[in-house]
Amino acid sequence: MTPSVLVLAESPAGAVSGPTKEAFGVARTLAGPDGSVAAVTTGGPAAAQALASFGPRDIWVADIPTESTTSGAVAALAARAAQESASAIVLVGGTTFGRDVVGRLAVRWGAAAATGVTEVTRTDSGELRVRRPVFGGRATETRTLLGPRAVIALRPHAFGAASEIVGTPAMHLLDRSVIPANEVAARRVSLASADGASGPPLPDATIVVSGGRGLRTAANFSLIEDLARSLGAAVGASRAVTDAGWRPPSLQVGQTGRAVSPQLYIAVGISGAIQHLVGMISSRTIVAINTDPSAPIFKVADYGIVGDALTLVPALTQEIRKVRGLS
Ligand SMILES: Cc1cc2nc3c(=O)[nH]c(=O)nc-3n(C[C@H](O)[C@H](O)[C@H](O)COP(=O)(O)OP(=O)(O)OC[C@H]3O[C@@H](n4cnc5c(N)ncnc54)[C@H](O)[C@@H]3O)c2cc1C
Repeated sequence: MTPSVLVLAESPAGAVSGPTKEAFGVARTLAGPDGSVAAVTTGGPAAAQALASFGPRDIWVADIPTESTTSGAVAALAARAAQESASAIVLVGGTTFGRDVVGRLAVRWGAAAATGVTEVTRTDSGELRVRRPVFGGRATETRTLLGPRAVIALRPHAFGAASEIVGTPAMHLLDRSVIPANEVAARRVSLASADGASGPPLPDATIVVSGGRGLRTAANFSLIEDLARSLGAAVGASRAVTDAGWRPPSLQVGQTGRAVSPQLYIAVGISGAIQHLVGMISSRTIVAINTDPSAPIFKVADYGIVGDALTLVPALTQEIRKVRGLS
């Protein structure tokens, strides 16, 4: 029998997250026609029910309160689910939480691990081969994962989301007693965003709107935030902006900031220095707004608008709000 592929699901508020849907798509491909896909969630029955529409044959369910959902607790529960489902591969969405779980799970389950993966294939001899960008996107690493078990965190948006399929999976309750005592004792007291930013977290966002020095002043940067809000996007910034103290370093995209790969990246008043490009070059579609037609950002942009951001961005925001029916 082909061992199953287990998806470690994230389903906040009972809704299946985008990265989890992408993991289901990869799991189906890896399992092939003879294998099976399983899922594990710590979000209780509501989360399990939501996962059922992505066709897993089995779902392992634990119900642990959000404040106790430490990565150590989730790793322990996922390792048990991997063992009980006789899985050979666990797929994790490449979210901040997912990346945090990978190492712990790999150690606990005795598996090889890889993060930021953009391609997974099997060699003719049945070994798992992964590819992922390294050195800030300037090179691609190909690596063979040796051994019978592997935990793989997928790079967000590198794979398409799985379509929904009707199924009636078998549900299995996970016993909380597998959670180590030190993880039970750990309780998250609060979670506050360090940058005070609203909207989705930058590394996981489907759309990112980033602003650069072309905005001229810290106050003008609010134009970027308004545009991001109208699109449900995360806000990013160039280093010129964070160095100037207009916005916190946690928003910086690039070599010494965050790497993002959204479906849509809008760069406003950003010249396109190589150190910025390496952090966003793998975005699916890049739009640039810049007054200088020879700005390097236009070399990587799919769509370019030559013009003044200070007049273009408010007009764009207004139009998007109108189209989306936002007041
Ligand atoms: C070791 C190292 C690491 C670095 N890491 C990073 C990093 O992680 N991320 C990063 O971003 N940078 C990084 N940098 C800095 C990088 O080299 C650039 O200096 C920086 O990205 C420039 O930011 P910018 O594009 O906002 O500003 P600028 O280069 O000054 O570009 C501003 C752009 O705005 C345009 N503009 C001006 N007015 C308007 C207007 N009204 N409307 C529209 N466009 C307008 C201009 O034509 C120009 O192209 C790093 C540098 C080093 C040396």
